Amino acid sequence: KFAMKDYCSIVTGGATGLGKAMAEALADMGSHIVIADLDQQRAEQTAEALRTAKGVRVLAIQADVTKSEDVERIVEETLASFGKIDVLVNNAGIVRNAKAEEMSFKDWSDVINVNLHGVFLMAQAVGKVMIQQRKGSIVNISSMSGIIVNTPQCQSSYNASKAAVISLTKSLAAEWAVHSVRVNTIAPGYMKTELTQPFFDNGGDMTKLWMERTPLGRPGVPEDLGGIVVYLASEASAYATGGVFVVDGGYTV
Ligand code: NAD
Repeated sequence: KFAMKDYCSIVTGGATGLGKAMAEALADMGSHIVIADLDQQRAEQTAEALRTAKGVRVLAIQADVTKSEDVERIVEETLASFGKIDVLVNNAGIVRNAKAEEMSFKDWSDVINVNLHGVFLMAQAVGKVMIQQRKGSIVNISSMSGIIVNTPQCQSSYNASKAAVISLTKSLAAEWAVHSVRVNTIAPGYMKTELTQPFFDNGGDMTKLWMERTPLGRPGVPEDLGGIVVYLASEASAYATGGVFVVDGGYTV
């Protein structure tokens, strides 16, 4: 009943990290995958690995989610290959650490551009298709940093962008429920990926502090998002929209 055989799922930033793990989980359920990522080489490598391991069709598209012409191209190429879009996982994101009083406007805007504008542009372009189809599930990747400010790190732009993604998710969910398009967000805690590896490598006390604050006592791994993304992307979550699904080992309790 909840299988995703012959679904078409787009995962932005799907070449590596959390996006790659979520693409694998969706492919396990039978969904074809479109990986849209800045990094062409890694997107193609991940696509090839997925085809071989999961036996689904996988399209790799080099694209920047902050550029509307790239976003349009993702939608066009996906429709040309699969004729529909069932799922969008808005996962591409970046972080810049700097004290607020010292942060350059470029660092501020780069983060807001990818994490918020990119999510909106992708949701808008794919949402139009889903509205026509009268079917679709959009999963935006926020962060626990959209809910709490994670001291002592200095990530004001990141925190603001991720809080905005939660509000955008609720707004789109409210507007598009009438079209049978659902929009939810996942708020992960610390997951070991390239984005956070510098903290795990050099964090020392910081990593120790995080683990003290995490009731489950370990950092997350990308595979920890597999179940929740399958739930939200599939009909298993048919009555869920506008929700914020926290997956953080208990950090925010
Ligand atoms: P990552 O840096 O390991 O991977 C991000 C991927 O996104 C890369 O493949 C990169 O090439 C791609 N990307 C970056 N900018 C892009 C753009 N403009 N257009 C297209 N692709 C782009 O990051 P990750 O740790 O896997 O994080 C994925 C998402 O999860 C991000 O939105 C991040 O904020 C969020 N998140 C991560 C953690 C964590 O602990 N790792 C926690 C909470 C939320």
